[in-house]
Amino acid sequence: MSYSIAIDGPAGAGKSTIAKKVAGEKGFIYVDTGAMYRAMALYLMREGVKREQTELISEVCKGAKITIEYRDGEQVVLLDGENVNGLIRTEEIGNMASVSSAVPAVREKLLELQQNLAKENNVVMDGRDIGTKVLPDADVKVYLTASTQCRAKRRFDELTAKGVQCDLQQIEQDIKERDHLDMTRDTSPLRQAEDAVFIDSSDMGIDEVAKAILDLCI
Ligand code: C5P
Repeated sequence: MSYSIAIDGPAGAGKSTIAKKVAGEKGFIYVDTGAMYRAMALYLMREGVKREQTELISEVCKGAKITIEYRDGEQVVLLDGENVNGLIRTEEIGNMASVSSAVPAVREKLLELQQNLAKENNVVMDGRDIGTKVLPDADVKVYLTASTQCRAKRRFDELTAKGVQCDLQQIEQDIKERDHLDMTRDTSPLRQAEDAVFIDSSDMGIDEVAKAILDLCI
């Protein structure tokens, strides 16, 4: 039986940093489901589909060939065999992903891929619906959040460090919009699973949060 740790929470809560650290400590693989939704968004944009064309998204998404590989311990998302890791971290793709991920056909397409990874490996998986939908029987479930201002500032610092010019207020606005879309959609909305442990990381360091999660594992 494989062991699974599910970490859900809103954009910019630090899920991927923490999940990677916990996975490293446990020797598990880290599954970034947001990257899969981002790869799907990239595919849809390349196909010329617009955010508001919900019916077209349902149709076109069926053609996406998204697979996952691990190279030197890093998750690599392949879109029709092309490594798209370097292309999916933009705000534009994130905003498209939060719209297209609300479409049930998109979620169905990625659900099996996520569940199979957890069946075959010990995983730390992060996303929005891992504890509630993808892995309802996960061994450990965490709902990781932080204040909107704190999440916006972290995203701003991350982008600035990469040399990307950005505006803090715009980032905060985007985060609020994404939270709203993720929390109010009909299919698999972001919410805390009943049996998830709530962690607010606004005033916590990375190591402190990682330790709190590791302490939950038996
Ligand atoms: O976590 P990340 O910001 O990379 O995710 C991008 C978008 O993908 C989110 O805003 C959310 O709409 C969607 N997503 C989702 N379910 C997941 C992971 C991500 O709907 N399990």
